[in-house]
Amino acid sequence: MTRKSGSTSGLAPYAAQAAGSAGRRHAEPTSSTRNDFQRDRDRIVHSTAFRRLEYKTQVFVNHEGDLFRTRLTHSLEVAQIARSIARNLRLNEDLVEAISLAHDLGHTPFGHAGQDALNLCMKSAGGFEHNLQSLRVVDELEERYGAFNGLNLCFETREGILKHCSIKQARLLGEVGARFLQKRQPSLEAQLANLADEIAYNNHDVDDGLRSGLITLDQIMQIDLFARHSRVVEKEFRDIAPRRLILETVRRMVNFLIVDVIETSSALIAAAQPADLAAVRLAPPLIAFSTGARTEANELKKFLHDNLYRHYRVQRMATKAQRIVTELFDAFHADARLLPGDYQRSDSSSQARAIADYIAGMTDRYAMREHRRLFAVDEI
Ligand code: MG
Repeated sequence: MTRKSGSTSGLAPYAAQAAGSAGRRHAEPTSSTRNDFQRDRDRIVHSTAFRRLEYKTQVFVNHEGDLFRTRLTHSLEVAQIARSIARNLRLNEDLVEAISLAHDLGHTPFGHAGQDALNLCMKSAGGFEHNLQSLRVVDELEERYGAFNGLNLCFETREGILKHCSIKQARLLGEVGARFLQKRQPSLEAQLANLADEIAYNNHDVDDGLRSGLITLDQIMQIDLFARHSRVVEKEFRDIAPRRLILETVRRMVNFLIVDVIETSSALIAAAQPADLAAVRLAPPLIAFSTGARTEANELKKFLHDNLYRHYRVQRMATKAQRIVTELFDAFHADARLLPGDYQRSDSSSQARAIADYIAGMTDRYAMREHRRLFAVDEI
């Protein structure tokens, strides 16, 4: 047999192995050139939902500036961080990359404000949660294959995408929800993608927050993780320009957290000695920050929450976003004939879900345009 690039050789015994995957929901012939996790990654990259990430808000709405992170660049940063750590821990880079690239596919336009608004609109129809929606996108909503709905991804990729889930939801999700009922862990690759997400957004939100002027250098110097690294940078490069000081500091913070996860997780894995993926599922979480780094990361998270995400300018945009999402939902709900034909349903509960799918799939600018089309009399 020819060796596929990125083959499973060299992986730790507790890594997820493509050849040992629990499989796809619809059986498919294997590929002669790629393993199953590589195929999953490629399917995600080629999906419509992935391209939409470019025009979806992370914190700053896309049109606020060209240099801020979008969901797409955020997802790429998560994948990069996760792969670096995976390589060092001899975990499966293909799987961790697939999970990372897909983890935000279900996000609504306008970031968390959009999701909260849609969740309220959907209160009597099962609610809306972006993480569940990411799974729904890859399981149902993408329409690119003749034989099935969705991307037909491997079980391991799907369980990684479903980071959290209520017990009530877990009961409805079959095999991919089972671990929440059994209180078991997902693969180390899934645990890792989750932590890489946190490393990415905490650090890039510092960069974007300072770039936007919504937070200041003086403010963030009160945060240990930032202050500690920036003092080293200032010592090493006297008279460094503020912008460079920020970027050099953020770079070192990311590196510090990556090294910390590698060292802490290595020690946890060495102590637990999981023989294989099945043992990983029964063990406690093994991918983690050290206690010190966890404390510092939490402090930074709280700072961003209080000073950036709650900043009045971010709040103004969030309020506008809530209004747009709510008004779109209410208009479609009141009269489904306003919806594109593909989203019209004959019964009311599946109609509500189809409206949520339609709105969740919108990019920021598409949602604004659609809002104008529905509410501005001179717009068609
Ligand atoms: Mg994310």
